[in-house]
Amino acid sequence: MAKTFKIVFLGGIGEIGKNMTAIEYSNDIIIIDAGMSFPGYNMPGIDYIIPDISYLKSNREKIRGVILTHGHEDHIGSLPYLIKDIPGIPVFGTRLTIALCQHKFRENKIPDNNLNVITEGDVINVGFFKIEFIKATHSIAGACHLAIETPIGMIFHTGDYKFDYTPIDGKMTDLGRLADLGNKGVVLMLGESTNIEKEGHSMSEKHVGQSLDYIFSQNLNKRLIIATFASNIYRIQQIIDLAVKYDRKVAFSGRSMINIAEMAFKIGELKFEHTDIVEIDKIKRYPHEKTVIICTGGQGEPMSALSRMSTGDFDKVVVNSKDTVVLSSSPIPGNEKMVLTVVNNLYRLGADVIYEALHEVHASGHAYVEELKLMMSLIKPKFFIPVHGEYRHLKKHSFMAQSLGIDKENIFVPEAGSTVIIQRSCIKQGPNVQAGNIYVDGYATGDMDSLVLKDRQHLAEDGFILVILNLLYLKPGNNDEFFAGLDVITRGFHSTDGFAAEVRDVVRSALSQFDFDHCDDNAAIKTIIKRALKKYIFNKYKQNPMIMPIVLDSVRE
Ligand SMILES: [Zn+2]
Ligand SMILES: [Zn+2]
Repeated sequence: MAKTFKIVFLGGIGEIGKNMTAIEYSNDIIIIDAGMSFPGYNMPGIDYIIPDISYLKSNREKIRGVILTHGHEDHIGSLPYLIKDIPGIPVFGTRLTIALCQHKFRENKIPDNNLNVITEGDVINVGFFKIEFIKATHSIAGACHLAIETPIGMIFHTGDYKFDYTPIDGKMTDLGRLADLGNKGVVLMLGESTNIEKEGHSMSEKHVGQSLDYIFSQNLNKRLIIATFASNIYRIQQIIDLAVKYDRKVAFSGRSMINIAEMAFKIGELKFEHTDIVEIDKIKRYPHEKTVIICTGGQGEPMSALSRMSTGDFDKVVVNSKDTVVLSSSPIPGNEKMVLTVVNNLYRLGADVIYEALHEVHASGHAYVEELKLMMSLIKPKFFIPVHGEYRHLKKHSFMAQSLGIDKENIFVPEAGSTVIIQRSCIKQGPNVQAGNIYVDGYATGDMDSLVLKDRQHLAEDGFILVILNLLYLKPGNNDEFFAGLDVITRGFHSTDGFAAEVRDVVRSALSQFDFDHCDDNAAIKTIIKRALKKYIFNKYKQNPMIMPIVLDSVRE
């Protein structure tokens, strides 16, 4: 049989989030990334979402390692869950990526002795695969492209990237190395698609620094509060450098901001003098205009530092007209409303607010169209699979690839659960595997099905009505006493004063013909109550609350 390898898409396809791809050859599987995603507005109470790893569990003896492209949550967030389910898998990533994983493992009480630090440029052997980590420019330090040598040719995984010619750490992507790989021949490229809808070239991170410098220079008499992603070490570095230049002290605010800054400092990814930093509790000791607060909350997250400042709910930082607040991030689609609410509230407190719509205070970490084209032209893959995007992103990326001369037959647009079989001369779809969302709610994982979510949505939209009927009060012919045993409780349902009496009447008439003497099945009673009430409430109130009848036929002794 011809040599083949198989790619299994477990997440990050048809969505931006929870990236996870398995590459399988013979008896070896490597897993690229283990991410999570954040819940949408239609998932009340869900903390986050991780990929369904049933496929990996049933092939656990083949798994040789997890290769992490970088430390963003959509690439490492589900790693603790993966390792809890399949302990002992070796994990490989660069310094900051592994430091972030270590922190997660400690929080989850997982031993971290299988975490391995790789340096950009390293080549490692994992099972049948030889993997080269090539430095990429992205919005976090330590991001890599992966060149994976397999017995039937090279696979190139772009990871998340942009081409930033003036990166903050001074380490440009080795374009020569990418061209080299392309010239030697790449069988398959997996390419991220996030910004396929953005024309041109993304802005350099350095440009954000220049915009911020201008803001510092224009706000000499004000305190600056700058919100950004905690993982964007480059941005934080630029803000610290500007603070030093303008003789201001820096305080970090927000749990993840403090944690990541500390961690990045320890491993040398973030550089500052201890005298430049003060604790947030002590910032009041310094003149207002001589301070900068770097905080979380650029996405308007309700519990974040910035969000609490904007509602006056954060006693360490009281925002007023002597503040300029900068949102150095752009809203992730879906978060726009939350972000603008924070902006409105900050204006209300008298602060000046600068956000992306007004100034260039944020640069995306993902390649725009011209950069995607450059990557494709350097790597010149035989087969191409777009990844890291919603379905339309993947589709558009596939059109772009065709416009650059890749055969339509050599491109595969996957969906979650797709598998692809690749031989030297052809790419074809394999049988789908189980894939999808596992919802994490506090400590509960795995057993949350879509029904629970549906219930939560139903409750959120229409409330509920509890009807408690105690059959012991039931005596034929004595309706008054019968209904003394009927309680009505509502929550979140908008009704009029006499509603409980209305419910009693509806239940009474619905059950008037019911033969209680020959019924040993309370389910029938519940169904009758439910049906009658549903109809009545919809006709009268045009609402559709969740109705829960409870039928008791015993009392406590
Ligand atoms: Zn990323
Ligand atoms: Zn990503």
